[in-house]
Amino acid sequence: MPVCNACKMEVETTTNNVCMDCQTQQKVDAFNNMWKWSINFQVKFTPEEMPTYLKQEKHYNEYDGAKVREMIQKIDALTPTKYYNPGNPNNGKPHHVYNIGREGSPVIYLEIRKIYMPNNFDYDTYTMDLKRLAYEAEADEAGIITNNDHEFIARFWWD
Ligand SMILES: [Zn+2]
Repeated sequence: MPVCNACKMEVETTTNNVCMDCQTQQKVDAFNNMWKWSINFQVKFTPEEMPTYLKQEKHYNEYDGAKVREMIQKIDALTPTKYYNPGNPNNGKPHHVYNIGREGSPVIYLEIRKIYMPNNFDYDTYTMDLKRLAYEAEADEAGIITNNDHEFIARFWWD
């Protein structure tokens, strides 16, 4: 088995000799560095990568890392995973992504490509659920910025 250059553990797979967990940690480290230098940027994180970002006890004015972690976990649970056809190995994988960063203070965009969603999905109820979760996480702004045939994008921002 290959050995990760960063954690020195034997792992199933590596990319550029670094395991998935260490890659995600390096991405979070890069994010935290960028946070110091830019007040306007975004980095895309998958639901699989988010726990590494969310495990930090981050606070910024109204942004409380523990509350945001809970919000993201609930959004992950509420958002249908991929379904193609019976027996497809990609069934059950998440497809939504989070673009997180700063617009002055913390911002999170939830992006969904509708091609991966069930045809009869109720976006009105989903929107109400998202707004309730954002309220519980004390977001100062929560809204749907795109909802067309192809995409659904929600924005959450903390002052
Ligand atoms: Zn590693």
